[in-house]
Amino acid sequence: MRKIEHLGIAVKDLEAATKTYEALFGKPAYQSEEVESEGVKTVFFKTGDNKIELLGATREDSPIAKYIEKRGEGIHHIAFDVEDIEAEIDRLKNQGFRLINEKPKNGADNKRIAFLHPKSTHGVLVELCEEIA
Ligand code: ZN
Repeated sequence: MRKIEHLGIAVKDLEAATKTYEALFGKPAYQSEEVESEGVKTVFFKTGDNKIELLGATREDSPIAKYIEKRGEGIHHIAFDVEDIEAEIDRLKNQGFRLINEKPKNGADNKRIAFLHPKSTHGVLVELCEEIA
């Protein structure tokens, strides 16, 4: 794992949240993308070297909608940049970590991603992401 790639924030109203973060950072989002398989729409901001991803549900049975119902809005996951996601998944499995995705899937922002189960990381949802070259 190299560095934090981005922080994901779950929001109820993506349009309102986008305006809030545009005001906070003083600049517009650089990307917005729907990940249909996940029932989620994402909006990405850059601030210095860091990235923030806003996540809004696009349907009621989306994991984000369920998350917000249970725990409210707020920080949802920490994503780490990895060089070789398959190797990292194998390494973590061998270390005893539980993975939500044992195989990488395509995520937003031109990435292959996999999530670790928060039960094996003390309550934090960790995303691995490898930039697609
Ligand atoms: Zn993410």
